Amino acid sequence: MSRIFSFFLCALTLTLNQAGAAEPADTIWSARYVITMDAQRRVIENGAVAIKGDRILAVGGKAEIDARFHARQRLDRPDAILSPGLVNTHTHAAMSLFRGIADDLKLQDWLEKFIFPAEAKNVTAEFVRWGTRLGCLEMLLGGTTTFTDMYYFEDVVAEAAKEAGMRGVLGQTIIGFPVADNKTHAAALAFTERHLQRFQTDPLITAAVAPHALYTNSDETLKASRALANKYHAPLVIHLSETKKENDDELAKRHTTPTKTLDNLGLWQGRSIAAHAVWVDEADLAILKSRGVGIAHCPSSNMKLSSGVAPVTRMLALDLSVGLGPDGPAGSNNDFDLFEEMDLAAKLQKVATMNPQALPAAAAMEMATIRGARALGMEKEIGSLETGKRADLIMVRIDRPHAQPLYDAVSQMVYTLKASDVRDVMVNGKPVVRDSRILTLDEKAILAKAAEYQAKIASSLRN
Ligand SMILES: [Zn+2]
Repeated sequence: MSRIFSFFLCALTLTLNQAGAAEPADTIWSARYVITMDAQRRVIENGAVAIKGDRILAVGGKAEIDARFHARQRLDRPDAILSPGLVNTHTHAAMSLFRGIADDLKLQDWLEKFIFPAEAKNVTAEFVRWGTRLGCLEMLLGGTTTFTDMYYFEDVVAEAAKEAGMRGVLGQTIIGFPVADNKTHAAALAFTERHLQRFQTDPLITAAVAPHALYTNSDETLKASRALANKYHAPLVIHLSETKKENDDELAKRHTTPTKTLDNLGLWQGRSIAAHAVWVDEADLAILKSRGVGIAHCPSSNMKLSSGVAPVTRMLALDLSVGLGPDGPAGSNNDFDLFEEMDLAAKLQKVATMNPQALPAAAAMEMATIRGARALGMEKEIGSLETGKRADLIMVRIDRPHAQPLYDAVSQMVYTLKASDVRDVMVNGKPVVRDSRILTLDEKAILAKAAEYQAKIASSLRN
């Protein structure tokens, strides 16, 4: 006997299946196209994914999955693409509360005249909690299931991410001047160690060490950051060669590029994720390749702050682990939309090289999924829809005018679809967005708090 419950106003159905010979699954999601991002890069028309607990049981044709499994719950979207959840390799989620605070500036002016003063006056643990909630809300609704973060009070970022049901690689910032959470580098290192200890066995959170950049930390602090990360087998996250100035200053100071200086300091001796890597030469790329450094390419941010064009086509030719990051929403982007980053990553390389093949759609889709997962050292767990991997999945609607007709599902994901087309999201086997509504967070309360903070931050900048 089977009973069907209808939820919300849509085609979503929860079905209690007939008991039979089929294997049990918790959930089956089916869609018109399943983009697997597996080794063969299969796109399955009329495909489905079976899930049990936090893992993917099987991926295949809908008829085959339905014959093999019976599930307690199911979601059938004949007008959607089912894809791996998108992987954000660099961001500052809590800075969502500074969204658009100062636009159209160079990085150093933006940072020194606006962001550092605004942070000094406003950042507290509660600010970080509400800012991260707002960031996670936007990211989940837009199909991002994993985010890589660098900020202050990163333990609070982790608490908010867990509350949202989102996966995170969360780096506690270490920076060479007094900031909201720590006044000295020694205090920051001790704080970071507690962060690493606390989330060591968490299924969603990978705690990380995040020295802000070469130019904001002493050599000793950078070395201590690496040692601390390695003690806990944790990733180290850092900004690298974002601007020409950063490179020129280092070349004037030590006659080496930032990548080379950091290599000399032993910073790449362990799991590492470098954000930006805009001003890197062939020798730098060889270092990044040989050390297995993951790179977070941030096209929106690099364009908006006029930082430059990262040599991503060359990085991909060398098979570097390059993912995508929206960076911060405070003026360097100003959103967390990975669909936009895919589109811009592809177009930025094309215009910079005058070659439409420089970064094709398939490569951009890889960067937002499996290659991004590789940048984080998590490619065995996330980034594709394959048996045994964590169940991080998104359903993206293709029934709107801008999504039709559809000749190629991957092309549509990169060049056409928007974060707002995401309809359902699952992280670690748990639904967190259903029919474009968040299930884990209080959206109304978060938006009300954002307005409250806006008034407070605006007045703090006038004083
Ligand atoms: Zn950044």
